[in-house]
Amino acid sequence: MTVALRTLLDRSVKKMGKGMNPMVKAATLEMVERAYTERITVQISAGHRSLEEQAALYGQGRVYSYNGKNYSNLAKPIVTNAKPGQSYHNYGLAIDFFIVSDDGKRAIWTVDSKWQRVAAIGKDLGFKWGGDWSAFKDYPHLEMSGGLSFTQLQAGKEPHLTFKLEKMEMPKTNKGDSHIISIQKTLNSRYKTNIEGDGFYGPKTRSALIKGLQTELNKQYNRKLVVDGKWGAKTKTATVIIKKGASCKITWILQAALYMEGFNPGPLDGEFGEKTETALFKYQKARKIPADKLAGKVTWNELFDRNTKHLM
Ligand SMILES: [Zn+2]
Repeated sequence: MTVALRTLLDRSVKKMGKGMNPMVKAATLEMVERAYTERITVQISAGHRSLEEQAALYGQGRVYSYNGKNYSNLAKPIVTNAKPGQSYHNYGLAIDFFIVSDDGKRAIWTVDSKWQRVAAIGKDLGFKWGGDWSAFKDYPHLEMSGGLSFTQLQAGKEPHLTFKLEKMEMPKTNKGDSHIISIQKTLNSRYKTNIEGDGFYGPKTRSALIKGLQTELNKQYNRKLVVDGKWGAKTKTATVIIKKGASCKITWILQAALYMEGFNPGPLDGEFGEKTETALFKYQKARKIPADKLAGKVTWNELFDRNTKHLM
């Protein structure tokens, strides 16, 4: 594959637009990433859609007006049966996907085994797929309704979505920190690290976090690191600066590492917001490294280097 994962993710984020439900957005990006690890290059073509945009779509192939405005567009064929407010896109709960060529330059709309596989990954993550509908098949479409009807959503009800990220079994004896157990499970599921979910931050968990970082640097920044979970000069040099506003798996690794060190970054969601920045700042001050609120080489090194300092 010649197109970078980062490119697919960036384009997809742009197309989803603002107004996406954060869980649906996170699940969508996870789907793009999982597909990429199976050498399937997928992109998102649509996400949140305003009521006016929905009216314009519904008006295609029809005589239609909405809120006193004419949306009739008989020159185009009918593309949807959903009026404004009757699509989960209007609530940031649906996305449309398509396959792109290996070089990322061409859209491929053939519903083949790759396409079916992306839909299956989406369903694994909790989406319902339009290709499963009996009446009006909508192959690019994935949605999470949280069990709410359009009427309930219009009334302002918030869906309770369960983001099925991990598929690992929880350990029976739960004696350690539950957040750390959850981090360990996510590491195992994302990076196949096979560490014990015991809720304690030890050398194996740290090594798994380093593996995660190495994997993401390779995937997102085309680094050529050996994924060995060891902190060395090459990995240190390959790190990137992560700062407020970042939204990626590397941010998640930063959050996890800060949490392990006893600095709570807020929800471990991969979104570098206020709480993550505060936790980073406090950590930098506590460790007496430049408190610049940027996770760059010095911070990454401080978090992961155990060769010379901080015995366990
Ligand atoms: Zn759709």
